[in-house]
Amino acid sequence: MRLVLLGPPGAGKGTQAERICASHELVHLSTGDLLRAAVAAGSELGLRAKAAMDAGDLVSDEIVLALVRERLEQPDAAKGFLLDGFPRNTAQAEALDADLGDRGVQRVISMRLDDEEIMRRLLARGRKDDQEIVIRNRLEVYREETAPLIAYYEGKDLLSSIDALGTMDEVFERIQSVLADESAGAGA
Ligand code: AMP
Repeated sequence: MRLVLLGPPGAGKGTQAERICASHELVHLSTGDLLRAAVAAGSELGLRAKAAMDAGDLVSDEIVLALVRERLEQPDAAKGFLLDGFPRNTAQAEALDADLGDRGVQRVISMRLDDEEIMRRLLARGRKDDQEIVIRNRLEVYREETAPLIAYYEGKDLLSSIDALGTMDEVFERIQSVLADESAGAGA
């Protein structure tokens, strides 16, 4: 399966992505994780990405696409992957479509969560980019840049929307039922 996990910061994408990948034997590609690793390693790319990440802005498409392409070219990704935190804007989604060609994204799972709950969760998480002012910016960036992807994938008939409120197990069950439908319908 070739999947995209979409949702606002704090929706629980990373946690659910790990469980989905373990259950369906997919490569987990998190651009946030790859970028944080690049920053920690002090690589040239990491240095270029750091300021945008600290501010809660998007890192340039050029940097992010280079990371994604490198990972998707590895042989294991041919069996299936889950993209977590990517694409984050329409330009990235279009570049992904062009790269994948006729082996394109098969299903997009959109995790829905209201702003109040997002704020509550992120403030509790306490990551470096989780200070209130940075969170507010990340939410704004999500609304302006990333949320339009919901309509983008809806237009391609690929979107399944789930409620991200509830326990980790409850949310995972909702995702599993979407994916069961996907597998059942994927006979062709
Ligand atoms: P995340 O772990 O997905 O919340 O990502 C953390 C930060 O990494 C974001 O706030 C962005 O600065 C950057 N980032 C992650 N994924 C992308 C992406 N697809 N495009 C641009 N920036 C990204």
